[in-house]
Order: sequence, then structure tokens, then C-alpha cells
Amino acid sequence: MLEPKSPAPGRSALGKPEASDEQRALAWAHTARFLTTASQLDQLPVTDLPEIAFVGRSNAGKSTAINRLAQQNRLAFASRTPGRTQHINLFEVGPRDKPNALLADLPGYGYAAVERGAKLRWQQVMADYLELRRSLTGIVLMVDSRLGFTELDLQLLRFISPRITNGVVRLLVLLTKADKLNRSQGAAALRNGNVVLAEAATGESDIGISLFSALKRDGVGGAATVLHRWAGLSGRSATSKDQMASRSPHDSNL
Ligand code: GDP
Repeated sequence: MLEPKSPAPGRSALGKPEASDEQRALAWAHTARFLTTASQLDQLPVTDLPEIAFVGRSNAGKSTAINRLAQQNRLAFASRTPGRTQHINLFEVGPRDKPNALLADLPGYGYAAVERGAKLRWQQVMADYLELRRSLTGIVLMVDSRLGFTELDLQLLRFISPRITNGVVRLLVLLTKADKLNRSQGAAALRNGNVVLAEAATGESDIGISLFSALKRDGVGGAATVLHRWAGLSGRSATSKDQMASRSPHDSNL
């Protein structure tokens, strides 16, 4: 008697190719849509959904990275419309009738042209958000790969470090615009980044770092996979560290 054949590896019983973790994560990220905007913490919806915040110096490539992750050209540029630049912009992800995560785009810091009073007020809102937002599950910090961590990035790291070291909030650092670096410069940027992040690493922490190029699409699938896992949507027990940092810097699947 013939045994029922098991599907070929990578194929479902129906013969269709199975989506990889990365494809599932990208399809999920693609569902992102604008939800609301807030200039103060108490204007944000109270939610049980896991929330992932995107932070970085202005011009680090944050908007471009969010758009690339969501595979939408204009999503994060909603944050650019006049009046919204100093707001937290929230995006919903997952099925329309049952969203399963929120993305929070925080304004870029360090923009010299912002008037001092507004800057101080805004810094306080951002600090309150990062310190107090209960649903905050993960932070994606965008750092220009050519500059590495600037003093402002280090200040931010020190500020979030209590919630990172105890593992309540996870951290993924994306070294952006990596297409501007050659192979050895990319490897050096990763090494330097790892040295800085080692200070926050504990047995409980979940910290990852990766080269990222929105232009070349390097690191996009890997980053989407980490966010998908943070949202509790993939059963992987691997940490961001295992998924990202141990790969070779120029692995195009990253
Ligand atoms: P934000 O202020 O952090 O939101 O930065 P933007 O996303 O607006 O990007 C700032 C500048 O960097 C823009 O001119 C982008 O075109 C450029 N940029 C962003 N991502 C990349 C990238 O992956 N590669 C290159 N070469 N340029 C990028």
C-alpha cells in the first residue's frame, strides 16, 4: 500500500510554496495604516495591543525605513505633514477588524531648527512616552550607519536602558543607509554598535542590531521578522540577537 506522500520541503499539501517567516512578516507589516496622532501622552489611546516605537535623530532615515518595512511609499510621511512633525503618529497593523499591534512613529530628535521651547516640551513628551507607555513592547532605533551612535543617541539609550536591561522593552538598532558603506565599513559599523549595546545586555534583555538599507532593501525582511515576533505573531523563541546580529553583515536576506 502506498503511504500518503508528505509535501516536498517548503511546499504545502496543496502544492503551493509555503510562505517563509520573512514573507509572512512582510505581508503583516504591509497592512500598516494610519490610526491617530497625538501631541501629548494622554491623547494616545489606551490599548492592550503591543506597541513598537520608531525613534532616531532627524535625517537618520526613519521615515524611509518605516515606509520600506510597510512597503508603502507614503505611510510615514504622514508624520511630515505640517502640524504633525512634533506628534506621535500611531499606525495599526493586522486585520482591519482585529488589529494585532501598533507602530508609533516618534519625531526625530536633534533637528537644529526647532525652537528651544518647543524642543524642550517635545523632549518631555518623548521621555514620558518611552518611560511610561505601558503597551510599549519594543523600540526600533534608527542610527545612520556612517555616523554611528551620536551623543543624542547615547542619551536616548541611557534613558531607555532600565526598561531594556530588565527585558520589559526590546531593542532593535537599524544602522541605516548601509548602501553607502563598503563591506569592511559595514562590518566595522556593526562591531562598534555591538560594543555600545553590550552595556545594556543582560540575561533578560532582547537586543538586536543590523545593517539596513531602504535603497537596496537589505535588512528589511529581517527587521520585519523581528517586529512580527515582538508582536507575538511568530512562535520563534530566538531573540533579535540570534536572528540578526549573528548573521553576516552583508547577508542579503537580513
Ligand atoms: P528621517 O528624518 O529620519 O525620517 O529621514 P528620512 O527617511 O527622511 O531620510 C533622510 C535622507 O536619507 C533622505 O534624503 C533619504 O532619501 C535618505 N535615505 C533614507 N534611507 C536611505 C537609504 O537606505 N540609503 C540611502 N542612500 N539614503 C537613504
